[in-house]
Amino acid sequence: MSQQEVPSGPALMVRGPGEVVLEQHSGVAAAAGEVVIEPHFVGLCGTDLEIVNGDLDPAYTRYPLVLGHEWSGRVAQVGTAVSEFAIGDPVVVEGVVGCLVCSACRSGRTNMCENYDELGFTLDGAAGPSVTVPAHLVHRLADGVPLAAGALVEPAAVVLRALGVLQIEPASRVLVIGDGTVALLAAQLVRMWSPATVDLAGLRPEQKVLAAAAGADAFTVDQPPDNAYDVVVEAAGATAAVESAIRAARPSGQVVLLGIAGHGNAARLLVDDVVNKDLRIRGSFSYTAEAWATTVGLLNSGALRPLPLVTHRARLEQFAAALHLLSTATGEPRGKILLDLRPDAADDDPGHPLPDLMKGDR
Ligand SMILES: [Zn+2]
Ligand SMILES: [Zn+2]
Repeated sequence: MSQQEVPSGPALMVRGPGEVVLEQHSGVAAAAGEVVIEPHFVGLCGTDLEIVNGDLDPAYTRYPLVLGHEWSGRVAQVGTAVSEFAIGDPVVVEGVVGCLVCSACRSGRTNMCENYDELGFTLDGAAGPSVTVPAHLVHRLADGVPLAAGALVEPAAVVLRALGVLQIEPASRVLVIGDGTVALLAAQLVRMWSPATVDLAGLRPEQKVLAAAAGADAFTVDQPPDNAYDVVVEAAGATAAVESAIRAARPSGQVVLLGIAGHGNAARLLVDDVVNKDLRIRGSFSYTAEAWATTVGLLNSGALRPLPLVTHRARLEQFAAALHLLSTATGEPRGKILLDLRPDAADDDPGHPLPDLMKGDR
């Protein structure tokens, strides 16, 4: 196929805290080693809300910024030195743009790059007409994998990296704290370690149906039992959840924290519990390039099945309603909310009806 024009069009721009607008955005042509992607699906998450509201640690964002760090799309242009991609290829793109030369990058800890840059955080994200990136960040989706599913690779990679830093034994009793998409993905992905049970502890009773769809054995909105779990995954991003996680871990248990609790928020550390229970507590930030590649492999092979966790789809113009829904408890189950930037692209039918946020408005 011949080279296409770099797409231009409206982008969801955060001008500063509390100031979100649709703004015309023109794309950047691919340099020799780069690829231009036309985004199709962009997932929204709590971190987007923190960026919109100005609650994220300022070291990890900048304004103005095109929102969108969970996404999939199709190749629109390839640089002259790129041979592994063709126009129209369905792809996902690693958002963490490691510098590749610092000591963290060189040792594979690209999530800890000393020159942190990330699409949708410090670099313009995907809720716009195009994204131009180095080809080594681009991963092709297998034929038959819905593009909508690709938009969940980012949160799944965050989860996979966090689970990977633990030493999870087969037949472990696992507790995931949280009831959002990251927690639901954790409940699904931890099955790869053959746990005995996977319980989910959340705050919203209406999420029970999604917990079941993710494969959790039990879902509760009550305080989880003390000293009951070999492995506890804190995926709620709340300080109270951190305290619950430490209490719920059994002696010699492991706790991993992957939720972002908000800049400056502190949890009470139950020191005696940590010491007397001989706990191993880990943090896990974002994902490495390795975790990303593994996650894409799991999606392409069918081992990762994120589409049942998508509950809403909205067009780009409906961003205000989508952001509102993200921050409001309606009593209805809420999984991933996707912005559909190309709602008329019939070839990207996910083969699974995605509920529309505002049906009458389409
Ligand atoms: Zn996110
Ligand atoms: Zn680096």
